[in-house]
Amino acid sequence: MLKFLGTGGAFNTKRGNTSAYFELGSELFLIDVGEDVFPKTIENHLFDQKTRVNIFITHLHSDHVGSLGTLLAYLYINVFGQDRSKICVYFPSEALKELLELQGVTEEVYTFYVNLWDELYVDGYQREVEYNFEAGKHTPYLDYKKNENCYHITFSQKKEFCFYYSGDTCEFNHQLSNPYAYDWIYHEVTMIKSAEVHFQYDKLLEATKDMPADQKKKFVLMHLDSNFDVERAKMDGFSIAGEQL
Ligand SMILES: [Zn+2]
Ligand SMILES: [Zn+2]
Repeated sequence: MLKFLGTGGAFNTKRGNTSAYFELGSELFLIDVGEDVFPKTIENHLFDQKTRVNIFITHLHSDHVGSLGTLLAYLYINVFGQDRSKICVYFPSEALKELLELQGVTEEVYTFYVNLWDELYVDGYQREVEYNFEAGKHTPYLDYKKNENCYHITFSQKKEFCFYYSGDTCEFNHQLSNPYAYDWIYHEVTMIKSAEVHFQYDKLLEATKDMPADQKKKFVLMHLDSNFDVERAKMDGFSIAGEQL
Protein backbone atom coordinates (compact mmCIF):
# COMPACT_ATOMS: atom_id res chain seq x y z
CA MET A 1 0.00 0.00 0.00
CA LEU A 2 2.63 2.57 1.02
CA LYS A 3 5.53 3.56 -1.20
CA PHE A 4 8.68 4.74 0.55
CA LEU A 5 10.94 7.68 -0.28
CA GLY A 6 13.33 6.54 2.45
CA THR A 7 13.40 3.79 5.07
CA GLY A 8 16.31 4.76 7.34
CA GLY A 9 16.83 5.91 10.90
CA ALA A 10 18.03 9.48 11.52
CA PHE A 11 21.72 8.71 10.89
CA ASN A 12 21.28 6.23 8.06
CA THR A 13 22.18 8.39 5.07
CA LYS A 14 22.14 5.39 2.75
CA ARG A 15 18.49 4.56 3.29
CA GLY A 16 17.52 8.20 3.89
CA ASN A 17 14.87 9.62 6.24
CA THR A 18 11.84 7.37 6.65
CA SER A 19 9.01 8.89 4.63
CA ALA A 20 6.11 7.25 2.80
CA TYR A 21 3.23 8.10 0.51
CA PHE A 22 0.13 6.76 -1.19
CA GLU A 23 -2.20 8.16 -3.80
CA LEU A 24 -5.99 8.11 -3.93
CA GLY A 25 -7.97 9.66 -6.78
CA SER A 26 -6.03 12.78 -7.68
CA GLU A 27 -4.67 13.38 -4.20
CA LEU A 28 -1.34 12.64 -2.58
CA PHE A 29 -0.93 11.54 1.03
CA LEU A 30 2.59 12.00 2.35
CA ILE A 31 3.79 10.88 5.78
CA ASP A 32 6.74 12.78 7.32
CA VAL A 33 9.09 15.13 5.48
CA GLY A 34 12.61 14.74 6.92
CA GLU A 35 15.77 16.60 5.88
CA ASP A 36 16.38 14.71 2.62
CA VAL A 37 12.75 14.24 1.55
CA PHE A 38 11.96 17.46 -0.37
CA PRO A 39 14.28 16.74 -3.36
CA LYS A 40 12.94 13.19 -3.58
CA THR A 41 9.34 14.40 -3.89
CA ILE A 42 10.41 16.42 -6.94
CA GLU A 43 12.53 13.63 -8.48
CA ASN A 44 9.60 11.22 -8.14
CA HIS A 45 7.14 13.70 -9.70
CA LEU A 46 4.81 13.27 -6.75
CA PHE A 47 2.89 16.48 -7.42
CA ASP A 48 2.16 16.02 -11.13
CA GLN A 49 -1.59 16.28 -11.82
CA LYS A 50 -2.45 16.41 -8.14
CA THR A 51 -5.45 18.42 -6.95
CA ARG A 52 -4.43 18.34 -3.30
CA VAL A 53 -1.46 17.31 -1.18
CA ASN A 54 -2.13 15.98 2.34
CA ILE A 55 0.88 15.88 4.62
CA PHE A 56 0.73 13.90 7.88
CA ILE A 57 3.41 14.39 10.52
CA THR A 58 4.20 11.90 13.31
CA HIS A 59 6.49 14.15 15.40
CA LEU A 60 8.86 17.11 15.21
CA HIS A 61 12.30 15.47 15.09
CA SER A 62 14.15 16.91 12.11
CA ASP A 63 14.47 13.52 10.39
CA HIS A 64 10.64 13.75 10.18
CA VAL A 65 10.02 17.46 9.48
CA GLY A 66 13.43 18.82 8.39
CA SER A 67 12.43 19.86 4.86
CA LEU A 68 8.72 20.46 5.48
CA GLY A 69 8.99 24.28 5.43
CA THR A 70 10.72 24.25 2.05
CA LEU A 71 8.20 21.77 0.67
CA LEU A 72 5.22 23.89 1.75
CA ALA A 73 6.71 27.05 0.22
CA TYR A 74 7.43 25.14 -3.01
CA LEU A 75 3.88 23.77 -3.23
CA TYR A 76 2.40 27.22 -2.61
CA ILE A 77 4.55 29.02 -5.16
CA ASN A 78 5.33 26.43 -7.84
CA VAL A 79 2.52 23.88 -7.75
CA PHE A 80 -0.78 25.31 -6.56
CA GLY A 81 -0.65 28.96 -7.71
CA GLN A 82 -0.78 30.34 -4.16
CA ASP A 83 -3.90 28.37 -3.24
CA ARG A 84 -3.29 27.22 0.33
CA SER A 85 -6.48 25.14 0.42
CA LYS A 86 -4.67 22.52 -1.73
CA ILE A 87 -1.83 22.19 0.78
CA CYS A 88 -3.03 20.45 3.93
CA VAL A 89 -0.93 19.64 6.96
CA TYR A 90 -2.19 17.30 9.70
CA PHE A 91 -0.66 17.16 13.16
CA PRO A 92 -2.54 17.18 16.49
CA SER A 93 -0.51 19.93 18.19
CA GLU A 94 -0.05 23.65 17.52
CA ALA A 95 3.67 23.06 18.12
CA LEU A 96 4.15 22.33 14.41
CA LYS A 97 2.58 25.66 13.44
CA GLU A 98 4.95 27.46 15.81
CA LEU A 99 7.98 25.65 14.42
CA LEU A 100 7.01 26.57 10.84
CA GLU A 101 6.33 30.18 11.86
CA LEU A 102 9.87 30.47 13.23
CA GLN A 103 11.06 29.30 9.81
CA GLY A 104 9.03 32.03 8.12
CA VAL A 105 6.34 29.67 6.83
CA THR A 106 3.03 31.06 8.05
CA GLU A 107 -0.50 29.68 7.68
CA GLU A 108 -0.84 31.84 4.58
CA VAL A 109 0.85 29.09 2.58
CA TYR A 110 -0.87 25.98 3.95
CA THR A 111 -3.98 24.80 5.79
CA PHE A 112 -3.40 23.34 9.22
CA TYR A 113 -5.58 20.57 10.69
CA VAL A 114 -5.03 19.89 14.37
CA ASN A 115 -7.70 17.16 14.77
CA LEU A 116 -6.98 13.73 16.17
CA TRP A 117 -9.57 12.15 13.90
CA ASP A 118 -11.43 13.07 10.74
CA GLU A 119 -12.87 11.83 7.48
CA LEU A 120 -11.71 13.34 4.23
CA TYR A 121 -13.51 13.73 0.96
CA VAL A 122 -10.91 12.83 -1.67
CA ASP A 123 -11.03 14.26 -5.20
CA GLY A 124 -11.61 11.62 -7.87
CA TYR A 125 -12.05 8.85 -5.31
CA GLN A 126 -15.60 9.44 -4.02
CA ARG A 127 -15.19 7.50 -0.79
CA GLU A 128 -14.22 9.02 2.48
CA VAL A 129 -10.91 8.12 4.03
CA GLU A 130 -10.55 8.15 7.76
CA TYR A 131 -7.44 9.07 9.69
CA ASN A 132 -6.82 8.65 13.36
CA PHE A 133 -3.86 10.01 15.36
CA GLU A 134 -3.05 8.33 18.63
CA ALA A 135 -0.51 9.68 21.11
CA GLY A 136 2.46 7.43 21.73
CA LYS A 137 5.72 7.41 23.64
CA HIS A 138 9.04 8.20 21.99
CA THR A 139 11.35 10.54 23.91
CA PRO A 140 10.39 12.76 26.87
CA TYR A 141 12.35 15.61 25.27
CA LEU A 142 9.40 16.01 22.95
CA ASP A 143 6.36 16.80 25.04
CA TYR A 144 3.29 18.15 23.30
CA LYS A 145 0.74 17.54 26.08
CA LYS A 146 2.38 15.59 28.88
CA ASN A 147 3.63 12.22 27.69
CA GLU A 148 2.67 12.82 24.08
CA ASN A 149 5.95 12.59 22.23
CA CYS A 150 4.89 11.19 18.90
CA TYR A 151 1.73 10.05 17.14
CA HIS A 152 0.79 6.72 15.62
CA ILE A 153 -1.50 7.14 12.61
CA THR A 154 -4.15 4.74 11.31
CA PHE A 155 -5.58 5.29 7.81
CA SER A 156 -8.63 3.43 6.66
CA GLN A 157 -11.41 3.24 4.16
CA LYS A 158 -13.89 0.83 5.68
CA LYS A 159 -14.34 -1.60 2.80
CA GLU A 160 -10.96 -1.19 1.13
CA PHE A 161 -7.97 -0.80 3.39
CA CYS A 162 -6.69 -0.15 6.86
CA PHE A 163 -3.09 0.40 7.78
CA TYR A 164 -1.16 1.52 10.82
CA TYR A 165 1.96 3.72 10.84
CA SER A 166 3.85 3.77 14.13
CA GLY A 167 6.08 6.83 13.74
CA ASP A 168 9.04 6.65 16.13
CA THR A 169 8.19 4.90 19.36
CA CYS A 170 9.59 2.82 22.19
CA GLU A 171 6.36 0.95 22.84
CA PHE A 172 4.12 -1.65 21.25
CA ASN A 173 0.56 -0.42 20.82
CA HIS A 174 -1.70 -3.06 22.40
CA GLN A 175 -4.10 -2.75 19.44
CA LEU A 176 -1.47 -4.40 17.26
CA SER A 177 -1.92 -7.62 19.20
CA ASN A 178 -4.84 -8.10 16.84
CA PRO A 179 -3.13 -7.84 13.43
CA TYR A 180 -6.32 -9.11 11.72
CA ALA A 181 -7.70 -5.56 12.02
CA TYR A 182 -5.06 -4.26 9.58
CA ASP A 183 -3.85 -4.90 6.06
CA TRP A 184 -0.40 -3.58 6.90
CA ILE A 185 1.39 -2.45 10.06
CA TYR A 186 4.31 -0.14 9.31
CA HIS A 187 6.51 -0.21 12.38
CA GLU A 188 9.68 1.51 13.46
CA VAL A 189 12.26 -0.82 14.98
CA THR A 190 15.89 -0.86 16.05
CA MET A 191 18.49 -3.52 16.79
CA ILE A 192 20.61 -1.04 18.80
CA LYS A 193 20.03 -2.03 22.41
CA SER A 194 21.19 1.33 23.84
CA ALA A 195 18.66 3.25 21.71
CA GLU A 196 15.98 3.27 24.40
CA VAL A 197 13.68 5.78 22.71
CA HIS A 198 13.21 3.41 19.75
CA PHE A 199 11.33 0.13 19.56
CA GLN A 200 13.61 -2.80 20.31
CA TYR A 201 13.63 -5.66 17.82
CA ASP A 202 13.62 -8.22 20.64
CA LYS A 203 10.38 -6.73 21.95
CA LEU A 204 8.82 -7.01 18.50
CA LEU A 205 9.81 -10.69 18.36
CA GLU A 206 8.23 -11.24 21.76
CA ALA A 207 5.04 -9.32 20.92
CA THR A 208 4.49 -11.23 17.69
CA LYS A 209 5.69 -14.70 18.71
CA ASP A 210 2.24 -16.34 18.74
CA MET A 211 1.05 -14.80 15.50
CA PRO A 212 0.66 -17.01 12.43
CA ALA A 213 3.15 -16.34 9.62
CA ASP A 214 0.66 -14.53 7.35
CA GLN A 215 -0.16 -12.06 10.16
CA LYS A 216 3.44 -11.53 11.18
CA LYS A 217 4.28 -10.68 7.59
CA LYS A 218 1.95 -7.68 7.87
CA PHE A 219 4.60 -6.00 10.04
CA VAL A 220 6.60 -3.89 7.62
CA LEU A 221 9.75 -2.66 9.34
CA MET A 222 11.02 0.88 8.79
CA HIS A 223 13.33 3.57 10.26
CA LEU A 224 16.19 1.09 9.97
CA ASP A 225 19.65 1.83 11.34
CA SER A 226 22.73 1.07 9.25
CA ASN A 227 23.51 -2.05 11.31
CA PHE A 228 19.96 -3.42 10.96
CA ASP A 229 20.10 -7.08 9.91
CA VAL A 230 17.53 -7.19 7.13
CA GLU A 231 18.14 -10.87 6.34
CA ARG A 232 17.54 -11.87 9.94
CA ALA A 233 14.31 -9.85 10.07
CA LYS A 234 13.09 -11.60 6.91
CA MET A 235 14.04 -15.00 8.34
CA ASP A 236 12.01 -14.09 11.42
CA GLY A 237 9.01 -13.53 9.15
CA PHE A 238 8.74 -9.74 8.89
CA SER A 239 8.53 -7.54 5.80
CA ILE A 240 10.92 -4.68 5.04
CA ALA A 241 9.75 -1.20 4.02
CA GLY A 242 10.56 -0.28 0.43
CA GLU A 243 10.83 -3.91 -0.72
CA GLN A 244 8.22 -5.53 -2.89
CA LEU A 245 5.51 -6.99 -0.64
ZN1 LIG B 1 13.21 9.32 13.43
ZN1 LIG C 1 12.12 10.62 16.44
